[in-house]
Amino acid sequence: MIDFLIKWRRQLTGMLLLLTISAGSPLLATPPAGTCYVVSQSEVAPAPSKMQCSEAPAGYQDGVLWLRLPISAAVSENGGSLVVNTTRFERMTAMFEYSDGFGDARTVSQGVYQHHWRIGGQIAFPSREGTPVSAAWIRFEKLEDHNLLRVRFVAGEAASRQFELSAFAIGAALALLGIAALYNLGLAGVLRRRFFLWHGCWAASVLLWGIVWSQVALPIFPEAAGTVSNRIATALACLAIMFAAFSAASALRSALPQTVRRSIMGLGLVVAALGIGAGIPGADIVVFGVLLAIGTLLTLAVVGASITTAWRRGHVEGRDLAISWALPMVTLAATLLIDLDTVFWGGGAQITMLFGSAFQTVCLSALATARLSALRVQRDSAVEASNTLAELADRDPLTGLLNRRGFIARCAQAFGDRKTSPFGLLLIDVDHFKTVNDSFGHEAGDKVLVTFGARLKSFEKRYACRAGRLGGEEFVLGVSGLEPAALRQLAETVREGLADCELGAVTERRRVTVSIGVADGMADGPFRELYGRADRALYAAKQAGRNRVVFFPRDGDFKEVAELRQAFAQKAR
Ligand code: GH3
Ligand code: MG
Ligand code: MG
Repeated sequence: MIDFLIKWRRQLTGMLLLLTISAGSPLLATPPAGTCYVVSQSEVAPAPSKMQCSEAPAGYQDGVLWLRLPISAAVSENGGSLVVNTTRFERMTAMFEYSDGFGDARTVSQGVYQHHWRIGGQIAFPSREGTPVSAAWIRFEKLEDHNLLRVRFVAGEAASRQFELSAFAIGAALALLGIAALYNLGLAGVLRRRFFLWHGCWAASVLLWGIVWSQVALPIFPEAAGTVSNRIATALACLAIMFAAFSAASALRSALPQTVRRSIMGLGLVVAALGIGAGIPGADIVVFGVLLAIGTLLTLAVVGASITTAWRRGHVEGRDLAISWALPMVTLAATLLIDLDTVFWGGGAQITMLFGSAFQTVCLSALATARLSALRVQRDSAVEASNTLAELADRDPLTGLLNRRGFIARCAQAFGDRKTSPFGLLLIDVDHFKTVNDSFGHEAGDKVLVTFGARLKSFEKRYACRAGRLGGEEFVLGVSGLEPAALRQLAETVREGLADCELGAVTERRRVTVSIGVADGMADGPFRELYGRADRALYAAKQAGRNRVVFFPRDGDFKEVAELRQAFAQKAR
């Protein structure tokens, strides 16, 4: 097994690096045709005749690797730039051999790229203007892996245009990732949904990876140039894979068994741990490369299968994940099948993956937001419907006034204020209503109730009061803010107003009157107590002959009732 892995390590490493959008410089790249090499500690360029032009170089990791790239005069007529995608090495010297026999050399080393770094993870060495170049030499000290090396010669001024374009494209992709990261992390904070947290972390780690890989961070941290950036980029790419796995697992919560979700998250954790391990100085990049490739492929396979299964089972989350992940997965496959060495101004697979990830995170954020908005609309209409139902449950269907339940619920708030504001209760009962029914029919009785209800409702507009129908022919008016004298006055107005209602033919011009029992309160006390006093006052009003108001004041001794009773008794005699 190990032999097999070692044999395939080049392919696996290549795949890993494509998949993990990780290490600074990919990828199965062969230097331009005719490139020859020699492993030699020499400080001066070795004789071309001593160089090896087939077979892969070996044994250079702890020493010096010399490369010679022949460059045709036609290409380099107006000069050009030697462009190297940054990878892990300690020191690198680029030399030009000009057609006039002269040469020049420039050196960059780990942490010291000077003005040679370019956005897009590349280092550029412009040749002398106006003199054709016949060959370029590169001397690497402690290059970690030649498989990851990518070198090209760009004629004339094309290189600077390429760098401008790639800087623009990378800037746009990073901006999208930054917005998506903030948006998702913001939503995670507001909605307390784990999916948005992981998705935000994925966008943030791809953003950081992009910043480190593309060397955008070098003006601030110049000493991170080269291997340090490379190691950080690898770790960040692996962290991004972990967060992507976490976000898929939490998005598919309702669609997948817990064991599958745990496996996805476990694989993500393994990839992240390996990514960090691969960044430890001295770690064997080949061994880690193989392990990372396996871990990443496994994660991709399990996540891909889970998304597909969820989608086929009709889960919207599965569909959303499939739509948004399709492009990065296809680009990933494309990077495996096609050599992207020259695409995107030399940014190759990394820029492709950066675009793919930016698309994925923006697309998934948009789809998740659309889904949330739809849920919100549904919830709002459900809340509206339940409010309407609650309102209907609180209303009396005949008169449209509040029923007992609705009235007590509404007045509970007013009761809360009774310490500072007076609250009065008017219990209103229709006099001899039974005879109205008996004489004119039940329907006529209903019309009387509706007319009285409408008149009581008209008081709501003029006073701080609430009208209700407690049941049968018994109405109620809850009044806030009136002192006893004003309350009594209002009760009289209500009584007269109802008695004066235009009933016309309904009762054949017979007047229908009401009796009103009034109680008021200020101290905290249960509704029942206030109602009890109003009821006793109403009872007294009935007993005293009806069509009148009796007031049971909050601190009164109810003398009035006794007097009334006496007067009534005398009258009866
Ligand atoms: P009192 O002056 O003592 O209040 O006499 P009353 O006849 O008004 O009182 P009683 O409680 O004896 O009768 C109330 C009547 O109200 C009895 C019932 O048939 C009638 N009633 C209750 N609800 C409705 C209703 O929704 N519509 C109609 N038309 N009548 C109703
Ligand atoms: Mg009655
Ligand atoms: Mg009654």
